[in-house]
Amino acid sequence: MSEELRQLLQTSHLSAERQQHNFQTIHTTVLTSSPYMKSANFRTFHADDLKFMFQQYDQLVLNGACGRALNGRPLTFHLSKRMTRAGGKTSWKSIRDRRTGSVREEFEISVSSHLLFQTFRNETRSVTVTGLECTDRLQAMQRIVEHEIVHLSEQLAWRSSSCRAARFQSIAVRLFGHQAHTHDLVTTAEVAHQHGVRRGSRVAFEFEGRRYQGIVNRITTRVTVLVASPQGERYSDGNRYMKFYIPLNMLQNPD
Ligand SMILES: [Zn+2]
Repeated sequence: MSEELRQLLQTSHLSAERQQHNFQTIHTTVLTSSPYMKSANFRTFHADDLKFMFQQYDQLVLNGACGRALNGRPLTFHLSKRMTRAGGKTSWKSIRDRRTGSVREEFEISVSSHLLFQTFRNETRSVTVTGLECTDRLQAMQRIVEHEIVHLSEQLAWRSSSCRAARFQSIAVRLFGHQAHTHDLVTTAEVAHQHGVRRGSRVAFEFEGRRYQGIVNRITTRVTVLVASPQGERYSDGNRYMKFYIPLNMLQNPD
């Protein structure tokens, strides 16, 4: 089963026109079929949209070889609010049954809804995913899924996958025309930076009716603020801090 996929990944080379045609076709098909997406800059979407998009790519680009290589092993789809850096993720695990000793494998593809929703708001810069410019959320999601389908296919064909390696990049160029294995979707850190909030910034916020001041320690979906407090935990600088997770829009200027 995986031999067919391996062959295809090694030899398939789609023309730029064909790649563009596939991209457009899937953009239209997903948008018209989805009961959740109202526009290409959708405000809601569902894991079923991700699943459907994956299936469209498998059919159009890989003739269904990726699905066949799964050979009945489960593949699930997930939209992640917590992925604050990676646009997508493909994971696999082997689970050994203690009683019978048999091993079963499971696969999952996740897409960061956090990053997609934070991008295509009103940023003035252009947005690229896999080195290609995207003008709406659906396009960005497609580029992420293209990247993840290469990860899954490599894993199924060779039991290993790395987007920093030459094999991955060759496949991503030949099937999708990818120029890079990265994205520049808008992170919370970027939005924070525009508001003058970065690691080490002094900020204030209200929590349960009290006003606190502290230092920004980390920025993920929310901003981690450390507030000096004798009841807090000791940190590497020798001081004690209490830790708060505050949404960016609830931060205030310090006094
Ligand atoms: Zn990757």
